Amino acid sequence: MQLLLNKLIDKNKFWANHGKVADYIPELGKMDSRKLGIAVVDTGGKIYRAGDYKTKFTVQSISKPIVLLLALMDNGEEVFNKVGKEPTGDAFNSIIKLETLNPSKPLNPMINAGAIAVTSLIKGKTKEERFQRILNLFRKISKNPHMDINFEVYLSEKKTGDRNRSIAYFLRDLGIIHGDVEDVLDLYFRQCSIEVTCEDIANMGMFLANQGIDRESGDAIVPKHLTQIVKTFMVTCGMYDASGEFAINVGIPAKSGVSGGIMCSVPNKMGIGVIGPALDHKGNSIAGVKLLEDLAKELKLSIF
Ligand code: GLU
Repeated sequence: MQLLLNKLIDKNKFWANHGKVADYIPELGKMDSRKLGIAVVDTGGKIYRAGDYKTKFTVQSISKPIVLLLALMDNGEEVFNKVGKEPTGDAFNSIIKLETLNPSKPLNPMINAGAIAVTSLIKGKTKEERFQRILNLFRKISKNPHMDINFEVYLSEKKTGDRNRSIAYFLRDLGIIHGDVEDVLDLYFRQCSIEVTCEDIANMGMFLANQGIDRESGDAIVPKHLTQIVKTFMVTCGMYDASGEFAINVGIPAKSGVSGGIMCSVPNKMGIGVIGPALDHKGNSIAGVKLLEDLAKELKLSIF
């Protein structure tokens, strides 16, 4: 495995030259586009690392499936009164269907509109308590008790996040979210700014692969059927509007984020975390996707 990972990193590094780092959140534009790193965790807890696996990056949209887990634990499937279960084919930050769909609700929890609605459902008496509950779940399932926010990225997104702000106010107008919109947005910006490494997201992927059971203690942290819901969303909408292509070429539940991370969950087998900040035109890590295509072929990982 180690040799294979080293080989595939070397083979796919050059792809970064064909992509571009996201800079609509100014602070993300500072990432080094040439990086490519991977970590793989198996069911026995063995961890393999290669390339620029030490790179720190913000979790961004990879937070969406995890916050969805917490919202489902807090509210049960009532979550789906507020957000649908279907892929969109539109960009992750699109607002257009909110006005034209009937019933008017975000199509799924992996696009920004759906994710903001889901974040608004996290329980807690104060904003602080709500964020702490999100962070605690991240820390637990990543096995990294020191995980925290990257404050620069958080402030940068909060300052420039007018697209998300528009979506959130629209959602309140539709009666999907209630109360203080800025509080909901603040929580969403904070969850996106949690800083991780490949190993952290590989552990998170492993936790989902292991059906919500902690691989060390054997404790069920999240009910199995909720992890199944989340992994299904990862297959149908986890890779933006390239989810169909990724399902064909790689074939495993995955979620990407604009900072270039990809979290993969190979059911009952392994968790994989990848970072490659240069993105393709659909917003996925360009070298990261190529790396995963090769890895999935070599190890026959497709679930289909
Ligand atoms: N924080 C980012 C945003 O809302 C997350 C987007 C993403 O990673 O897809 O724009």
